[in-house]
Amino acid sequence: MVTLTQQEVERRLNTVRCAVCKQSRFAIDERFMGSDGDWRGICKTCYYTFPVYTDMEFYLRTQPDVPLRLKEISCTACNHRGVTLDFRATLSVREAYYFVTCLGCRRQFPEQSSLEAYE
Ligand SMILES: [Zn+2]
Ligand SMILES: [Zn+2]
Repeated sequence: MVTLTQQEVERRLNTVRCAVCKQSRFAIDERFMGSDGDWRGICKTCYYTFPVYTDMEFYLRTQPDVPLRLKEISCTACNHRGVTLDFRATLSVREAYYFVTCLGCRRQFPEQSSLEAYE
C-alpha cells in the first residue's frame, strides 16, 4: 500500500476548490487523522471540514466497479486511459473527487466522481 504523507494530500487538495467559499487553501486536521485512513480536510479560509479517505486498498476491494471506472478515466495531458487512485475526498454531497495519477505520464490530477453523490 502506498503511504501518503499529510503534506502530499494537502498539496493535492489545493487543486480543487472549497464547496463553500470556492478557495483552494486546504489543510488536514491532525486531530482527525485516523489510523484507518479516514482523515479530515479543513478549508483554511472558511473552516469548512470534509472527509478525506486515504485507504484506497480497502475502498477498491469493497467497490468492485471503481477499478473498472479508473481504467476509463483519460488523462487530459497525454490522453492515456487508465489511472491509479491515490486518495479521495468528499467536498460536498455533490462534489466527490478522486485524486488520481496517470499511468502514462504520471501526471496527478483530481477527477470528479459522479457515482459517490448517490452513496
Ligand atoms: Zn472554504
Ligand atoms: Zn497522462
